[in-house]
Amino acid sequence: MLQDIAPHRLDLSFAQLQAGAGDRAVAFLGDSLLLREDGALPRVGDLGDCHPAYLGILDGHPHFLCEAQEGLPGFRAVPPRELRQIAQGYLCHLASVAFQLHAWYRDNRFCGRCGALMGRKADERAMLCPRCGNTVYPRIMPAIIVGLYDGERIVVTRYRGRDYKGTALIAGFCEVGETPEMTVARECREEVGLSVAGIRYFASQPWGFDSDLLLGFFARLEGSDAITREEGELSEALWVPRDELAEVGDPRSLTSTMMMHFKHHPEWF
Ligand SMILES: [Zn+2]
Repeated sequence: MLQDIAPHRLDLSFAQLQAGAGDRAVAFLGDSLLLREDGALPRVGDLGDCHPAYLGILDGHPHFLCEAQEGLPGFRAVPPRELRQIAQGYLCHLASVAFQLHAWYRDNRFCGRCGALMGRKADERAMLCPRCGNTVYPRIMPAIIVGLYDGERIVVTRYRGRDYKGTALIAGFCEVGETPEMTVARECREEVGLSVAGIRYFASQPWGFDSDLLLGFFARLEGSDAITREEGELSEALWVPRDELAEVGDPRSLTSTMMMHFKHHPEWF
């Protein structure tokens, strides 16, 4: 999946490191990632006044999150939706993490409690209000993906109004006060009108472009198999037999990984 970048290694634990001109920069111009024409990351020194924030260590090298300026020659700006297609796997994961922090820094410049300008906290990854002491940590939104199955069949969906047009599984955000298992049961009920039992955790994936932490579960149908589709949310929802499930080619996606797990590992279920 996206975070599986071996043999590369990314250490995201916070450290009080200052950026040097030769350090690698994961730089955003608006929401687009700045890459050199050859596809490599810029150096902090290439970017002028770029407010570097420590990001992590990739393969032994410190990387810094930076704000890029317009008009730097020799670079191209890649929008988030294109990154997944063009970037090498480890770079896509790094960009996903960096984008999440970029969006969080951007959206927390002012204190939500008293309105003062926030500053970066020195000893941990947080924003601190110098006036009232409000401390804000990076936003991580838990969401579930569920493979709802009944013997040899699984429910496959298509979502309306999203950039991604391919097949999907039932998915949704955890609401306040819910456990992920409660979210699984609620989303199955809301999106396709089905009841589930035997909810089993499978795997997870951080998806920083939307500040999500995706939690993958499988759940067994309990009761009627008649799908009642939530039409505002889904354009399609149907039972697909295991042997008719299309081979989906993106091992970086949790949804694809789950579909292929159902298809190729019937003994797990
Ligand atoms: Zn404040």
